[in-house]
Amino acid sequence: MSISAPETSPSAAPPANHHKVIILGSGPAGLTAALYTARADLAPLVLEGNQPGGQLTITTEVENFPGFPEGILGPELMDRMREQVKRFGAKVKFEAAVEVDLSQRPFTIRTDEDTYRADALILATGATAKLGGIPGETHLMGYGVSACATCDGFFFRDKEIVVIGGGDSAMEEATYLTKFASKVTIIHRRRELRASRIMQERAFANPKIAWIWDSVVTEIVGTREGGITAVQLHNLQTGEDSTFATQGVFFAIGHTPNTALFQGQIEMNEVGYIQVQEPGTQTNVAGVFACGDAADHIYRQAVTAAGTGCRAAIDAERWLQEHHG
Ligand code: NAP
Repeated sequence: MSISAPETSPSAAPPANHHKVIILGSGPAGLTAALYTARADLAPLVLEGNQPGGQLTITTEVENFPGFPEGILGPELMDRMREQVKRFGAKVKFEAAVEVDLSQRPFTIRTDEDTYRADALILATGATAKLGGIPGETHLMGYGVSACATCDGFFFRDKEIVVIGGGDSAMEEATYLTKFASKVTIIHRRRELRASRIMQERAFANPKIAWIWDSVVTEIVGTREGGITAVQLHNLQTGEDSTFATQGVFFAIGHTPNTALFQGQIEMNEVGYIQVQEPGTQTNVAGVFACGDAADHIYRQAVTAAGTGCRAAIDAERWLQEHHG
Protein backbone atom coordinates (compact mmCIF):
# COMPACT_ATOMS: atom_id res chain seq x y z
CA MET A 1 0.00 0.00 0.00
CA SER A 2 1.38 3.41 -0.86
CA ILE A 3 0.57 6.26 1.48
CA SER A 4 -0.42 9.60 0.02
CA ALA A 5 0.19 12.81 1.94
CA PRO A 6 -2.72 15.19 1.43
CA GLU A 7 -2.11 18.89 0.76
CA THR A 8 -2.31 21.11 3.77
CA SER A 9 -4.62 24.10 3.81
CA PRO A 10 -5.60 26.69 6.43
CA SER A 11 -8.54 25.52 8.54
CA ALA A 12 -11.74 27.40 7.76
CA ALA A 13 -13.64 25.89 10.67
CA PRO A 14 -14.14 27.96 13.82
CA PRO A 15 -11.31 27.21 16.26
CA ALA A 16 -13.72 25.32 18.52
CA ASN A 17 -14.43 22.93 15.65
CA HIS A 18 -10.79 22.24 14.88
CA HIS A 19 -9.51 19.18 16.74
CA LYS A 20 -6.20 17.41 16.83
CA VAL A 21 -8.02 14.09 16.61
CA ILE A 22 -11.53 13.24 15.54
CA ILE A 23 -12.84 9.71 15.93
CA LEU A 24 -15.75 8.50 13.85
CA GLY A 25 -17.68 5.77 15.64
CA SER A 26 -18.41 4.91 19.26
CA GLY A 27 -18.17 1.15 19.58
CA PRO A 28 -15.34 -0.49 21.54
CA ALA A 29 -12.81 0.55 18.85
CA GLY A 30 -13.80 4.22 18.73
CA LEU A 31 -14.14 4.62 22.48
CA THR A 32 -10.84 2.88 23.21
CA ALA A 33 -9.17 5.16 20.66
CA ALA A 34 -10.83 8.08 22.49
CA LEU A 35 -9.62 6.82 25.86
CA TYR A 36 -6.01 6.60 24.74
CA THR A 37 -5.94 9.86 22.80
CA ALA A 38 -7.67 11.67 25.66
CA ARG A 39 -5.12 10.34 28.14
CA ALA A 40 -2.40 11.51 25.73
CA ASP A 41 -3.83 15.05 26.11
CA LEU A 42 -5.10 15.25 22.56
CA ALA A 43 -8.66 16.21 23.59
CA PRO A 44 -10.34 14.04 20.94
CA LEU A 45 -13.82 14.59 19.58
CA VAL A 46 -15.92 11.45 19.09
CA LEU A 47 -18.73 11.66 16.56
CA GLU A 48 -20.82 8.75 17.72
CA GLY A 49 -22.69 7.93 14.53
CA ASN A 50 -26.26 6.73 14.26
CA GLN A 51 -25.90 3.86 16.72
CA PRO A 52 -24.05 5.19 19.78
CA GLY A 53 -22.18 2.31 21.35
CA GLY A 54 -22.24 0.25 18.16
CA GLN A 55 -23.20 -3.38 17.75
CA LEU A 56 -22.95 -4.24 21.45
CA THR A 57 -25.99 -2.12 22.12
CA ILE A 58 -28.13 -4.69 20.33
CA THR A 59 -26.90 -7.63 22.37
CA THR A 60 -28.02 -8.45 25.87
CA GLU A 61 -25.47 -10.19 28.09
CA VAL A 62 -21.75 -9.88 27.23
CA GLU A 63 -19.76 -12.58 28.97
CA ASN A 64 -16.51 -12.53 27.00
CA PHE A 65 -15.23 -9.05 27.74
CA PRO A 66 -12.42 -9.43 30.28
CA GLY A 67 -12.95 -7.86 33.68
CA PHE A 68 -16.62 -8.68 34.11
CA PRO A 69 -16.73 -12.11 35.76
CA GLU A 70 -20.53 -11.96 36.15
CA GLY A 71 -21.03 -10.68 32.58
CA ILE A 72 -22.41 -7.26 31.70
CA LEU A 73 -25.24 -6.02 29.50
CA GLY A 74 -23.95 -4.76 26.14
CA PRO A 75 -25.55 -1.29 26.46
CA GLU A 76 -24.21 -0.94 30.00
CA LEU A 77 -20.68 -1.85 28.91
CA MET A 78 -20.83 0.84 26.26
CA ASP A 79 -22.26 3.42 28.71
CA ARG A 80 -19.35 2.69 31.01
CA MET A 81 -16.81 3.08 28.19
CA ARG A 82 -18.41 6.41 27.30
CA GLU A 83 -18.21 7.62 30.92
CA GLN A 84 -14.58 6.52 31.08
CA VAL A 85 -13.54 8.53 28.02
CA LYS A 86 -15.41 11.63 29.22
CA ARG A 87 -13.54 11.45 32.50
CA PHE A 88 -10.33 12.11 30.58
CA GLY A 89 -11.71 15.03 28.61
CA ALA A 90 -12.89 13.45 25.36
CA LYS A 91 -15.88 15.20 23.83
CA VAL A 92 -18.62 12.86 22.64
CA LYS A 93 -21.30 14.15 20.30
CA PHE A 94 -24.36 12.28 19.05
CA GLU A 95 -23.75 13.27 15.45
CA ALA A 96 -23.02 11.21 12.37
CA ALA A 97 -20.56 12.18 9.66
CA VAL A 98 -22.35 12.56 6.35
CA GLU A 99 -19.38 13.72 4.27
CA VAL A 100 -15.61 13.67 4.66
CA ASP A 101 -12.86 15.31 2.64
CA LEU A 102 -9.55 13.54 3.10
CA SER A 103 -7.80 15.24 0.17
CA GLN A 104 -6.54 18.14 2.27
CA ARG A 105 -5.23 18.56 5.78
CA PRO A 106 -6.75 19.37 8.13
CA PHE A 107 -9.38 16.84 7.12
CA THR A 108 -12.98 18.03 6.89
CA ILE A 109 -15.89 16.16 8.43
CA ARG A 110 -19.42 17.35 7.93
CA THR A 111 -22.39 16.17 10.00
CA ASP A 112 -26.02 17.27 9.68
CA GLU A 113 -25.32 19.86 12.34
CA ASP A 114 -21.81 21.17 11.88
CA THR A 115 -18.49 21.07 10.04
CA TYR A 116 -15.33 19.94 11.80
CA ARG A 117 -11.62 19.87 10.95
CA ALA A 118 -9.12 17.34 12.24
CA ASP A 119 -5.34 17.05 12.02
CA ALA A 120 -5.65 13.29 12.43
CA LEU A 121 -8.69 11.12 11.87
CA ILE A 122 -9.53 7.70 13.29
CA LEU A 123 -12.14 5.70 11.41
CA ALA A 124 -13.99 3.32 13.72
CA THR A 125 -17.35 3.11 12.00
CA GLY A 126 -17.75 -0.65 12.46
CA ALA A 127 -19.76 -3.13 10.48
CA THR A 128 -23.37 -4.16 10.44
CA ALA A 129 -24.48 -7.77 10.44
CA LYS A 130 -26.82 -8.43 7.58
CA LEU A 131 -30.27 -9.52 8.68
CA GLY A 132 -33.14 -10.93 6.67
CA GLY A 133 -35.54 -7.99 6.93
CA ILE A 134 -38.23 -10.32 8.32
CA PRO A 135 -40.84 -9.88 11.06
CA GLY A 136 -39.56 -10.63 14.55
CA GLU A 137 -35.82 -10.23 13.94
CA THR A 138 -35.37 -6.72 15.32
CA HIS A 139 -37.75 -7.08 18.25
CA LEU A 140 -36.21 -10.40 19.30
CA MET A 141 -32.54 -9.46 18.69
CA GLY A 142 -30.75 -10.40 21.92
CA TYR A 143 -33.76 -12.46 23.06
CA GLY A 144 -33.08 -15.57 21.01
CA VAL A 145 -32.03 -13.91 17.76
CA SER A 146 -28.34 -13.25 17.23
CA ALA A 147 -25.81 -12.53 14.54
CA CYS A 148 -22.77 -13.62 16.56
CA ALA A 149 -22.24 -17.23 17.64
CA THR A 150 -19.06 -16.46 19.60
CA CYS A 151 -20.96 -13.83 21.60
CA ASP A 152 -24.20 -15.66 22.25
CA GLY A 153 -23.67 -19.39 21.66
CA PHE A 154 -23.21 -20.03 25.34
CA PHE A 155 -26.83 -19.07 26.06
CA PHE A 156 -28.12 -21.91 23.90
CA ARG A 157 -26.84 -24.87 25.86
CA ASP A 158 -28.93 -27.98 25.11
CA LYS A 159 -31.29 -26.02 22.89
CA GLU A 160 -32.36 -26.63 19.30
CA ILE A 161 -31.46 -23.70 17.09
CA VAL A 162 -31.20 -22.66 13.46
CA VAL A 163 -28.44 -20.92 11.51
CA ILE A 164 -29.39 -19.02 8.36
CA GLY A 165 -26.83 -18.89 5.54
CA GLY A 166 -24.73 -21.05 3.27
CA GLY A 167 -21.30 -19.40 3.32
CA ASP A 168 -18.18 -19.93 5.42
CA SER A 169 -19.64 -17.89 8.27
CA ALA A 170 -22.71 -20.10 8.47
CA MET A 171 -20.58 -23.28 8.48
CA GLU A 172 -18.23 -21.86 11.09
CA GLU A 173 -21.00 -20.52 13.32
CA ALA A 174 -23.05 -23.73 13.06
CA THR A 175 -20.04 -25.89 13.87
CA TYR A 176 -19.14 -23.68 16.83
CA LEU A 177 -22.72 -23.70 18.08
CA THR A 178 -22.80 -27.51 18.26
CA LYS A 179 -20.56 -27.15 21.32
CA PHE A 180 -23.59 -25.81 23.15
CA ALA A 181 -26.78 -26.61 21.28
CA SER A 182 -28.26 -30.11 21.14
CA LYS A 183 -29.10 -29.63 17.45
CA VAL A 184 -28.24 -26.98 14.87
CA THR A 185 -30.24 -26.80 11.64
CA ILE A 186 -28.71 -24.82 8.80
CA ILE A 187 -31.33 -23.17 6.60
CA HIS A 188 -30.02 -22.22 3.18
CA ARG A 189 -31.88 -20.60 0.31
CA ARG A 190 -30.33 -22.85 -2.33
CA ARG A 191 -29.31 -26.52 -2.54
CA GLU A 192 -25.66 -25.67 -3.07
CA LEU A 193 -23.44 -24.11 -0.44
CA ARG A 194 -21.26 -21.09 -1.07
CA ALA A 195 -18.86 -22.17 1.69
CA SER A 196 -15.39 -23.54 0.95
CA ARG A 197 -15.11 -27.31 0.56
CA ILE A 198 -13.27 -27.86 3.82
CA MET A 199 -15.83 -25.89 5.86
CA GLN A 200 -18.70 -27.73 4.16
CA GLU A 201 -17.14 -31.10 4.86
CA ARG A 202 -16.64 -30.26 8.50
CA ALA A 203 -20.29 -29.26 8.81
CA PHE A 204 -21.56 -32.31 6.88
CA ALA A 205 -19.55 -34.60 9.14
CA ASN A 206 -20.99 -33.09 12.31
CA PRO A 207 -23.81 -35.34 13.62
CA LYS A 208 -25.44 -32.45 15.46
CA ILE A 209 -25.98 -30.46 12.24
CA ALA A 210 -29.14 -30.92 10.15
CA TRP A 211 -30.07 -29.16 6.90
CA ILE A 212 -33.04 -27.44 5.32
CA TRP A 213 -32.46 -26.60 1.66
CA ASP A 214 -34.03 -24.24 -0.85
CA SER A 215 -35.76 -22.36 1.93
CA VAL A 216 -35.96 -18.89 3.42
CA VAL A 217 -37.15 -17.85 6.84
CA THR A 218 -40.11 -15.50 6.47
CA GLU A 219 -40.85 -14.84 10.15
CA ILE A 220 -39.40 -15.44 13.60
CA VAL A 221 -42.03 -16.43 16.12
CA GLY A 222 -41.62 -15.73 19.83
CA THR A 223 -41.68 -13.14 22.58
CA ARG A 224 -39.00 -11.35 24.58
CA GLU A 225 -40.40 -12.92 27.76
CA GLY A 226 -40.88 -16.47 26.49
CA GLY A 227 -38.11 -16.67 23.88
CA ILE A 228 -38.25 -18.03 20.35
CA THR A 229 -40.61 -20.90 19.60
CA ALA A 230 -40.47 -21.31 15.81
CA VAL A 231 -39.59 -19.93 12.40
CA GLN A 232 -41.88 -19.77 9.41
CA LEU A 233 -40.29 -21.22 6.29
CA HIS A 234 -40.97 -20.78 2.61
CA ASN A 235 -39.60 -23.36 0.21
CA LEU A 236 -38.45 -21.55 -2.92
CA GLN A 237 -38.66 -24.68 -5.09
CA THR A 238 -42.04 -26.09 -4.06
CA GLY A 239 -43.64 -22.84 -2.89
CA GLU A 240 -44.67 -24.61 0.31
CA ASP A 241 -44.91 -22.74 3.63
CA SER A 242 -44.25 -24.49 6.91
CA THR A 243 -43.47 -23.93 10.58
CA PHE A 244 -40.25 -25.21 12.08
CA ALA A 245 -39.89 -25.36 15.87
CA THR A 246 -36.70 -23.79 17.21
CA GLN A 247 -35.41 -21.99 20.27
CA GLY A 248 -32.85 -19.72 18.67
CA VAL A 249 -32.04 -18.07 15.34
CA PHE A 250 -28.54 -17.10 14.21
CA PHE A 251 -28.06 -14.99 11.10
CA ALA A 252 -24.83 -15.78 9.29
CA ILE A 253 -25.45 -14.13 5.95
CA GLY A 254 -22.51 -11.77 6.06
CA HIS A 255 -21.60 -8.33 7.37
CA THR A 256 -21.43 -4.96 5.68
CA PRO A 257 -18.62 -2.64 6.77
CA ASN A 258 -19.90 0.89 7.41
CA THR A 259 -17.41 2.50 5.07
CA ALA A 260 -19.48 3.82 2.15
CA LEU A 261 -18.68 7.36 3.33
CA PHE A 262 -14.99 6.87 2.55
CA GLN A 263 -15.43 5.20 -0.83
CA GLY A 264 -12.99 6.59 -3.38
CA GLN A 265 -10.85 8.29 -0.72
CA ILE A 266 -9.54 5.37 1.33
CA GLU A 267 -8.17 2.08 0.05
CA MET A 268 -10.51 -0.82 0.76
CA ASN A 269 -10.74 -4.45 -0.20
CA GLU A 270 -13.30 -5.59 -2.77
CA VAL A 271 -16.08 -5.83 -0.17
CA GLY A 272 -15.41 -2.51 1.52
CA TYR A 273 -13.20 -3.30 4.51
CA ILE A 274 -10.61 -0.56 5.01
CA GLN A 275 -7.05 -1.65 4.31
CA VAL A 276 -4.47 -0.78 6.94
CA GLN A 277 -0.74 -1.26 7.09
CA GLU A 278 -0.62 -4.27 9.40
CA PRO A 279 0.34 -4.51 12.18
CA GLY A 280 -0.38 -0.77 12.43
CA THR A 281 -3.59 1.08 11.64
CA GLN A 282 -2.35 3.61 9.06
CA THR A 283 -4.54 3.78 5.95
CA ASN A 284 -3.31 4.87 2.53
CA VAL A 285 -3.93 8.52 3.51
CA ALA A 286 -1.29 9.90 5.87
CA GLY A 287 -2.92 10.95 9.13
CA VAL A 288 -5.98 8.72 8.71
CA PHE A 289 -6.12 5.56 10.80
CA ALA A 290 -8.70 2.78 10.90
CA CYS A 291 -9.64 0.29 13.59
CA GLY A 292 -12.34 -2.11 14.69
CA ASP A 293 -14.73 -4.01 12.45
CA ALA A 294 -14.53 -1.44 9.64
CA ALA A 295 -11.05 -2.84 9.00
CA ASP A 296 -11.49 -6.41 10.27
CA HIS A 297 -13.63 -9.06 8.65
CA ILE A 298 -12.03 -11.89 10.55
CA TYR A 299 -12.22 -11.49 14.33
CA ARG A 300 -15.05 -8.98 14.86
CA GLN A 301 -14.99 -9.16 18.66
CA ALA A 302 -15.45 -6.30 21.11
CA VAL A 303 -12.10 -7.05 22.68
CA THR A 304 -10.22 -7.19 19.37
CA ALA A 305 -11.92 -3.96 18.26
CA ALA A 306 -10.85 -2.31 21.50
CA GLY A 307 -7.31 -3.58 20.90
CA THR A 308 -7.10 -2.05 17.44
CA GLY A 309 -8.66 1.17 18.80
CA CYS A 310 -5.74 1.39 21.20
CA ARG A 311 -3.30 0.83 18.34
CA ALA A 312 -4.95 3.54 16.22
CA ALA A 313 -4.70 6.02 19.10
CA ILE A 314 -1.00 5.30 19.60
CA ASP A 315 -0.36 5.49 15.85
CA ALA A 316 -2.22 8.82 15.62
CA GLU A 317 -0.39 10.24 18.61
CA ARG A 318 3.02 9.34 17.14
CA TRP A 319 2.04 10.67 13.74
CA LEU A 320 0.85 13.97 15.25
CA GLN A 321 4.05 14.29 17.22
CA GLU A 322 6.08 13.93 14.03
CA HIS A 323 3.94 16.21 11.88
CA HIS A 324 2.45 18.76 14.26
CA GLY A 325 5.04 18.84 17.04
P1 NAP B 1 -20.87 -14.90 2.13
O1 NAP B 1 -19.75 -15.71 1.66
O2 NAP B 1 -21.30 -13.70 1.37
O3 NAP B 1 -22.11 -15.88 2.29
C1 NAP B 1 -23.36 -15.40 2.66
C2 NAP B 1 -24.35 -16.56 2.63
O4 NAP B 1 -25.60 -16.09 3.11
C3 NAP B 1 -24.57 -17.12 1.21
O5 NAP B 1 -24.71 -18.51 1.27
C4 NAP B 1 -25.87 -16.44 0.79
O6 NAP B 1 -26.66 -17.25 -0.04
C5 NAP B 1 -26.61 -16.30 2.10
N1 NAP B 1 -27.47 -15.12 2.10
C6 NAP B 1 -27.12 -13.84 1.80
N2 NAP B 1 -28.18 -13.03 1.96
C7 NAP B 1 -29.19 -13.82 2.36
C8 NAP B 1 -30.55 -13.57 2.69
N3 NAP B 1 -31.06 -12.33 2.65
N4 NAP B 1 -31.32 -14.61 3.08
C9 NAP B 1 -30.82 -15.86 3.13
N5 NAP B 1 -29.54 -16.18 2.83
C10 NAP B 1 -28.76 -15.15 2.45
O7 NAP B 1 -20.65 -14.34 3.64
P2 NAP B 1 -19.84 -15.03 4.85
O8 NAP B 1 -20.17 -16.46 4.98
O9 NAP B 1 -20.08 -14.12 6.02
O10 NAP B 1 -18.33 -14.89 4.41
C11 NAP B 1 -17.77 -13.60 4.11
C12 NAP B 1 -16.29 -13.76 3.75
O11 NAP B 1 -15.55 -14.14 4.90
C13 NAP B 1 -16.06 -14.86 2.71
O12 NAP B 1 -15.01 -14.47 1.88
C14 NAP B 1 -15.66 -16.05 3.54
O13 NAP B 1 -14.85 -16.97 2.84
C15 NAP B 1 -14.89 -15.37 4.66
N6 NAP B 1 -14.95 -16.21 5.88
C16 NAP B 1 -13.96 -17.13 6.06
C17 NAP B 1 -13.97 -17.95 7.18
C18 NAP B 1 -12.89 -18.95 7.37
O14 NAP B 1 -12.18 -19.25 6.43
N7 NAP B 1 -12.68 -19.49 8.56
C19 NAP B 1 -15.02 -17.86 8.10
C20 NAP B 1 -16.02 -16.93 7.89
C21 NAP B 1 -15.98 -16.11 6.76
P3 NAP B 1 -26.23 -17.57 -1.57
O15 NAP B 1 -25.12 -18.56 -1.46
O16 NAP B 1 -27.45 -18.10 -2.19
O17 NAP B 1 -25.78 -16.24 -2.13
